Amino acid sequence: MITYLDNAATTPISPAVKRALAEGIEEYGNPSSLHSMGVRAHDLLERSRTKIASFFGCNEQHIYFTSGATESANIILQGYAAALKRSNSSRNEILISPIEHPAVENTCAFLGKSGFVVKKLPVDSSGIVPIETVLAELTPQTAIVAVMHTNNETGSRQEIETLAAACKKLDPGILFVSDIVQAAGKFPLDTLASSVDAFFLSGHKLGAPKGMGLFYLNPSFRIQPLIQGGGQEFGYRSGTTSPLNAHLLACALEDRIANMSRNTKHVTRLNEEFIDTLVKEGVAVERIVPLEHTSPYVLCCTFPATRGEYLLKELSKRDVCVSQGSACSSNSHAKSRILEALGVDYKRMDGALRVSFSPENTSEEVVSAAHTIRDIVSPK
Ligand code: PLP
Repeated sequence: MITYLDNAATTPISPAVKRALAEGIEEYGNPSSLHSMGVRAHDLLERSRTKIASFFGCNEQHIYFTSGATESANIILQGYAAALKRSNSSRNEILISPIEHPAVENTCAFLGKSGFVVKKLPVDSSGIVPIETVLAELTPQTAIVAVMHTNNETGSRQEIETLAAACKKLDPGILFVSDIVQAAGKFPLDTLASSVDAFFLSGHKLGAPKGMGLFYLNPSFRIQPLIQGGGQEFGYRSGTTSPLNAHLLACALEDRIANMSRNTKHVTRLNEEFIDTLVKEGVAVERIVPLEHTSPYVLCCTFPATRGEYLLKELSKRDVCVSQGSACSSNSHAKSRILEALGVDYKRMDGALRVSFSPENTSEEVVSAAHTIRDIVSPK
């Protein structure tokens, strides 16, 4: 039996999404076709868009369907940079947190090669970006501030609406962008669009299949489309939009949001139970970030007496799926740029493991994974 505790990488398709598949799969029409099947498909697409907009407090016309978060981040960041250049804007600075996913980090690095100045904001030892330091870095040239809501490797969680509102108060012309991939369906975000100008997510992190995602963009900001074509998604993402994907995304979000408080309690219990069981079994383990500063869905811990990579491999042999954190490469001596930004020393970094939960995980799975770790680190 597989014990899957790597839900920050991707989640299994949730029972709610499996149920939604049956309805959506019938709507195979092209939503741009004028015949009845096209109209039905268009109707499903637009109902899904409206439902999703209601979850974030925005107008449905400002939600754009894409293949996922990486594509969304590129459309927003590259598209806005291109629009600024086209209008000969003097804004050419991009501020990002040092713990952004490569979808943002590498897109900004790419923009850094074409005339933009990319500055990294500091984070504290919990991975939190202090508001004062962001405000102190803003200049009349600041074009974009990009700070993720919840980090995928450590679970570090920002007060993103407060941060965005503070930046926008100083300069409403800044595009404030937030990656909400690890936050959507897990935290209340129903007023997000009133402070954050652009955000994006991927369906496969919340129980939908891979290859579907979306972004929101405040209509005060115009972007240049990356892809030219039939002008779907209000001109921002040409290519036939999938009503089925939109429907599954809407159902996945609806299910997670409807059960949010129950799920939060459940995964918090699993998160605590995992550490408590290890401690009870005499395994040396520490959290990298205190639980109060993280999403309970992501637990980054370190085993000072062993190597994370060794643990990961041994757990994998025993069908327990966890991760070392996305930033660690297969090179055993690679450092994690995320943990480095938090000031984690090499020893603790080397022993780090990421365990990430879904609402479908059980207490038995978590206790059994902790027992498996005990057997690996202190064999009888
Ligand atoms: N942002 C975060 C925080 C993520 O965890 C991920 C996926 O790991 C992404 C962005 C990119 O998502 P996708 O690969 O679905 O485009």
